[in-house]
Amino acid sequence: MGECVVEELKELIHTAKELYRTGLVRGTSGNVSVRDPESPGRMWITPSAIPYDEITVEDLVQVDLESGTPVRGSRKPSSETPMHRAIYRLRSDVRAVVHTHSTYATMFACAGEEIPAVHYLIAEIGDRVPVADYAVYGSEELARNAVEALRRAGANGALLKNHGVIAVGESLSKAYVRAEIIETVAQLAFGAKMIGRWELLTPEQLEETRKNFGSYFAAREDR
Ligand SMILES: [Zn+2]
Repeated sequence: MGECVVEELKELIHTAKELYRTGLVRGTSGNVSVRDPESPGRMWITPSAIPYDEITVEDLVQVDLESGTPVRGSRKPSSETPMHRAIYRLRSDVRAVVHTHSTYATMFACAGEEIPAVHYLIAEIGDRVPVADYAVYGSEELARNAVEALRRAGANGALLKNHGVIAVGESLSKAYVRAEIIETVAQLAFGAKMIGRWELLTPEQLEETRKNFGSYFAAREDR
């Protein structure tokens, strides 16, 4: 295994532990994966049912994107492996996928409501956070529904109806930041609704924001 793969797997573990530390995932819910930098037809994913504070690089499982077969690692891959595989197969630009049940975003998913453009940070995801149709967790149908929601909205994240959140990125840190943004904007949208109303940004205002984001997120990547 090359040095760049080893580094990426360490980053995957760091991302998983950060999700747990910041409360975006609880218990053993949620999962994280990264495309293998040396074998783009394979991904590495967190295992099923191992607590986040115990997880190490040795627990990660390499899975073939086409067949779904585990190639390396002795653990059982995450139950949401089909959804991660489907996203990498659809989007060649995606190199990392984060799945959470973060509370406020999942409240919108339970209501079957998209998260609207109440705050400029949503521009990092799209013009809104769409809702994928419900299907039982871990199923190929959920994988298809998630991919379809991302495609339809041209978005970097989506809600899974009555379930949770999916966020994608060209790096682990980007996918992590997007999962965090989805939760933040969900909290703000919820609060604005409680105050009584929300004022939405226009697609033009979001596009203007997106132009400024290049330098902002480039700076974050350097941290
Ligand atoms: Zn889930």
